[in-house]
Amino acid sequence: MSEHNLEMLIIGAGPAGISMGVEAVSSGIDSSKVVIIEKAPEHSYMIRKFYPDQKLVTANYKGKAAMCSGVMCIPDYSKSETLTYLDQAIEKNQLEVRYEETAWKLEKLEDGSFRVYTDKSEFKTKTCVIAIGMMGKPNKPDYKIPSTIRDKVHFDITSKKIENSKVLVIGGGDSASEYVQYLSQEGNKVDLSYRKDSFARMNEINQVSLFTLEKRGETKLFLNSNAIGLEEKDGQVQVNFSEEECPLRVYENVVYALGGTSPTNFLKLLKIEFSGTDEPIVKDGFETSVAGLFLIGDLSAGKRGGSIISAFNSSHEAMKKICNDYLTCKV
Ligand SMILES: Cc1cc2nc3c(=O)[nH]c(=O)nc-3n(C[C@H](O)[C@H](O)[C@H](O)COP(=O)(O)OP(=O)(O)OC[C@H]3O[C@@H](n4cnc5c(N)ncnc54)[C@H](O)[C@@H]3O)c2cc1C
Repeated sequence: MSEHNLEMLIIGAGPAGISMGVEAVSSGIDSSKVVIIEKAPEHSYMIRKFYPDQKLVTANYKGKAAMCSGVMCIPDYSKSETLTYLDQAIEKNQLEVRYEETAWKLEKLEDGSFRVYTDKSEFKTKTCVIAIGMMGKPNKPDYKIPSTIRDKVHFDITSKKIENSKVLVIGGGDSASEYVQYLSQEGNKVDLSYRKDSFARMNEINQVSLFTLEKRGETKLFLNSNAIGLEEKDGQVQVNFSEEECPLRVYENVVYALGGTSPTNFLKLLKIEFSGTDEPIVKDGFETSVAGLFLIGDLSAGKRGGSIISAFNSSHEAMKKICNDYLTCKV
């Protein structure tokens, strides 16, 4: 894997992430030192997916003032005009957007910079801006989870503490491995079930960690095992498999790691501080409690939600702070 040295890494290519890149280039940062990572195959995926085709995109959405403080701004537009405006912003500013790439880990280094690991590369960056919106959701299996066991079935490991329990993790990517490692550390007896015969999607560190746990007898790995449904069994979760030789196993908790993350849980994994009402705390210029790490757009817009213009404006505010405290640039 190659490592890239950046001034700014942006996660999420929606209105907030794209305008952040534009603000950076307009402030004098070389566009070759800025990368945007987008997990979808196209930018502004939320707009493409959730806006009806004939929708009028209003500049004063939800009654917010249509006042632009930064470099980017829109009037009332159609959906396709909005997407074209964002396309052109990427093109004119020569922004590198890496599609179908997902960040899975972020570390703060001793020199104050960050190392960001994605499923395809590694980046070292002086500043990191998260602009992933609020619409990400964990993927769920296509069978129904009985209501009697819902409190024992999980789609992440940060919403409820799981300890001293017999757990099955279902999945074969990096999150699945990280869940097994973390839950084992917390004193759980963890097995992993994956429907394929190898962990091709998992990075090497996570594969090695899993196999080490297996060698030490701390986890069992069931490859080629296909869970097809869950049932309640004496207050526990019976997992039914399609395999004839082992059609069922019983666990106290089942955790799915089938891809997709809810933004709140992604942020908690980054160790950002949250308020009592479970909102990420952002300070001046949308900086988090981790120095040099910023949250912009809908993510930091609060419970009332944001708009395209408020996303653009949040990038401008973040850029002012970044030029003041971290990078050589001028807003
Ligand atoms: C139905 C609907 C109608 C709306 N109408 C209007 C309107 O008329 N006018 C208006 O101003 N606003 C409107 N809004 C609000 C507006 O769309 C949002 O405020 C704006 O899109 C927020 O931009 P954002 O970049 O913060 O997030 P998003 O637009 O959600 O973009 C986030 C991007 O990050 C990507 N992403 C997510 N997770 C990851 C990850 N882990 N790694 C990498 N990439 C990731 C997503 O695929 C997406 O491309 C509407 C919202 C909805 C839902």
